[in-house]
Amino acid sequence: MPIDLHTHSIRSDGTQSPAEVMSSARSAGLDVVALTDHDTTAGWGEAADAAAEVGIGLVRGIEISCAHEGISIHLLGYLQDPANPALLAEIQQARDSRRSRARRMVEALAEDLSLTYEDVLATAAPEASIGRPHIADALVTKGVVASRDEAFATLLHPRGPYYVSHYAPPPESVLRLLTAAGGVVVMAHPFAHRRGRVVGDEVIEGLADAGLAGLEVWHRDHDAAAIARGDALAARLGLLATGSSDYHGAGKLNRLGENTTSPAVLAQIVERASGTPVLPA
Ligand code: AMP
Ligand code: FE
Ligand code: FE
Ligand code: ZN
Repeated sequence: MPIDLHTHSIRSDGTQSPAEVMSSARSAGLDVVALTDHDTTAGWGEAADAAAEVGIGLVRGIEISCAHEGISIHLLGYLQDPANPALLAEIQQARDSRRSRARRMVEALAEDLSLTYEDVLATAAPEASIGRPHIADALVTKGVVASRDEAFATLLHPRGPYYVSHYAPPPESVLRLLTAAGGVVVMAHPFAHRRGRVVGDEVIEGLADAGLAGLEVWHRDHDAAAIARGDALAARLGLLATGSSDYHGAGKLNRLGENTTSPAVLAQIVERASGTPVLPA
């Protein structure tokens, strides 16, 4: 029973519609998939309809970008109430900040090459949660780079001259918001050090005390040492250990089902959630 609890659609930086993600997940042989777009739940409705149509289980989720002392942390929220006002306000602020940040990055890039904010918006669905992948896509369209990956390795790199950060709340406050909305929270790719600095075990210990439910242990960006560290930490802190693809359609190499979560762990997530049901209900 393959279960993949981390995917993205065009509502954020994936390249497929929520419905296409559901049918791709079915074709990949998954029984359950979670849609976890960055800082938005706008894809939930379309995903729910499509999941029912293709006959796949759906966990409706989100991935929220946080920061702890300047270190990026991504929290996956599962099965929270999408209408919770405090949560809605928080992710709206995040999406607004993502847009102004993209505008500022484009302004910086435009000093040295031909690129407009409109070029970036043209790569994204209306109302999408805008990220560097959209700027990358615009740079590919312009012929400046060959791929998203090349853009990230060069012009969009956090230590490069064009990088601007976006609003990222502390993980404790997002954990509180998601939990209050009946969600269950798993820390995404906690030790993906190629993406940037990662937090120490003591930070995760603090989040576990604050209600963190699990760690995404099996992920493409984790090497053997990261998996061993995640596994040991999850066992020590009594956290669930998940595995997922972090699928972005054609935007990344990650393939649906390349890492999976056990049915027992999914059952725990469903058991602890009270915001919205896993589908079919
Ligand atoms: P942002 O949140 O806008 O700073 O952009 C980070 C997003 O870019 C993450 O969600 C990743 O999925 C994506 N990303 C990071 N590195 C790469 C890469 N090398 N190729 C494609 N997408 C990437
Ligand atoms: Fe992404
Ligand atoms: Fe992430
Ligand atoms: Zn992700």
